[in-house]
Amino acid sequence: MPFHLNRRAFLASTAGFIALHPFSARAQAGQAHLRIMETTDVHVHVFPYDYYGDRPVDTVGLARTASLIQGIRDEATNSILLDNGDFLQGNPMGDYMAYERGMSEGDSHPIISAMNTLGFDASTLGNHEFNYGLNFLMNSLAGAGFPVVCANVASEMGASPTEDTTLVPPYVILDRELTDGAGETHPIRIGIIGFVPPQIMTWDRRHLEGNVMARDIVDTARAYIPQMREEGAEIIIALSHSGIGEADHMDGMENASIPLAAVDGIDAVLTGHHHRVFPGPDYAETPGVDAEAGTIMGKPAVMAGFWGSHMGLVDLMLERDGNSWRIASHMSEARPIYRREEDRSITPLVESVPAVLAAAQAEHDATLEYVRRAVGETDAPLHSYFALVADDPSVQIVSNAQTWYIEQMMIGTEHEGLPILSAAAPFKAGGRGGPEYYTEVQPGPIAIKNVADLYLYPNTVRAVRITGAEVREWLERSAGMFNQITPGEADQVLLNPDFPSYNFDVIDGVSYQIDLSQPNRYNNDGEVVNPDAHRIVNLMFEGAPIDPEQEFIVATNNYRAGGGGSFPGASPETVIFEGPDTNRDVIVRYIVEQGTVSPSADANWTFAPMEGTTVLFDTGPAAETYIDSVEGVTIEPAGDGPDGFARYRITL
Ligand code: MN
Ligand code: MG
Repeated sequence: MPFHLNRRAFLASTAGFIALHPFSARAQAGQAHLRIMETTDVHVHVFPYDYYGDRPVDTVGLARTASLIQGIRDEATNSILLDNGDFLQGNPMGDYMAYERGMSEGDSHPIISAMNTLGFDASTLGNHEFNYGLNFLMNSLAGAGFPVVCANVASEMGASPTEDTTLVPPYVILDRELTDGAGETHPIRIGIIGFVPPQIMTWDRRHLEGNVMARDIVDTARAYIPQMREEGAEIIIALSHSGIGEADHMDGMENASIPLAAVDGIDAVLTGHHHRVFPGPDYAETPGVDAEAGTIMGKPAVMAGFWGSHMGLVDLMLERDGNSWRIASHMSEARPIYRREEDRSITPLVESVPAVLAAAQAEHDATLEYVRRAVGETDAPLHSYFALVADDPSVQIVSNAQTWYIEQMMIGTEHEGLPILSAAAPFKAGGRGGPEYYTEVQPGPIAIKNVADLYLYPNTVRAVRITGAEVREWLERSAGMFNQITPGEADQVLLNPDFPSYNFDVIDGVSYQIDLSQPNRYNNDGEVVNPDAHRIVNLMFEGAPIDPEQEFIVATNNYRAGGGGSFPGASPETVIFEGPDTNRDVIVRYIVEQGTVSPSADANWTFAPMEGTTVLFDTGPAAETYIDSVEGVTIEPAGDGPDGFARYRITL
């Protein structure tokens, strides 16, 4: 009782009024409210800080999520706190620890230290836990003050899942005390089992091949759940670092949370990996799921966003059933740390917990230094001032990194050996962003901060498999960037102002010219409007005209491959590889591994010559510095453009 009084006094002085959850309020003798709290896909975000932008943000950070924890614990008589994986990689603090500091035996990792501060009861492994190799992972886990479980990754595979030697314990059975509605305590045994997408064997082949093996999530669950029951687990919670995908089980599926929820004996499923929110509208149309009630196959489930954006809650009303407990009713909720207002501004809903910040303060400070310091070198300037009129180093480095990454990912697949092309567009290229809105990195050291400038969006890598004919159509769609130009006329306006630069995909690995005398084949919505027009001419692969039947792999991003911009050939049907890695992470890895990068543009695309014709093009005034380095185009200053832009004349 004194504990309760103290707690009320504490709440009154700090957090204001906290309402008891209805399950806690109405539990009778022999009934108990158990609240399960989930964090997932935190990706080393302890501080509310964007390291690429080098500025504080209110949308991320375990220190913020943590501030929900105290209030949430106070709403419930009994609670446990679980993490669903992807904690070790995914922001520059993770890269700093892996690439700069390293983890030796006995070192503590800042995300683990922060989690220890919060008293997590258990966690599982996400796919990104494997990104830095097994030694790094195991040395990091050694500092965890909580069990980390994963049932479907084995260092030695047995005849069946339960005979495997798993990398970490497959499950844990937590012995806890539950306080019931009458204030009496009873023991409960809570089973926690974890799963990761078996695709880790492809995504991190270089670290994992020959060291571990991964099994199908659902098959593994079916094998272990009866064993956990036999060992006395009264409630079983699946930590599913796997998205909410197809309802039907397919061997080796990546997003297996629905068939997993259907496995007998699993009582609740904590999901993740998709970086979405559940319950919520993201899954409103998904069969097998009640996106409002927060159930999957009728079982309580949750997905707590990503980077600490939400705390996931599954509330169970338990009833004594003989000597054990059973679930009488349940609720799910994902509680956010911020609110996005109608004007798109962000209102934080919580403050950071100082103890969590303190647990990672030293590494946070070191990371700030790291993102501002060189991690590699470029021997060419990386700028986008001429990215819309000539092949350009800021786009070239993205393609170089994407090609390098996809080459590794194709090894051992049925696609190995097909030529790999790469599509990339200039994201920062003036336009409505204004005359300063360009990428610009000087020759010399490249800092991590610069990579955000090179790759603006948090896209993830995809690869599609398409024909030479589709490569041509993809480029035709891109060529809508330009107005139709009349041969023989002077000073015509080159750029179509309604065409966003992020849809101007340059495809590397082939060479081509753009014939501006032709009308657009595609409009801005990706529809064919001039079926007889072809702007892409002299499209060559390895020095010969491209074979329209030949197959190619094209590296791109999830936006394009998901149908963004309606590019012919880029669609979910042609995707043969879905990377878990962001394009930005791939560029960082590429620079770190290469040391010095030479992203000199190779002028693989140019405008087709047009006698006696000039066009005008506006770019940032700082372009002047680089004018001599532009390849494949004849360009000269032509005075001032509007709104602070500088004008250039191109002789075609
Ligand atoms: Mn993740
Ligand atoms: Mg190029």
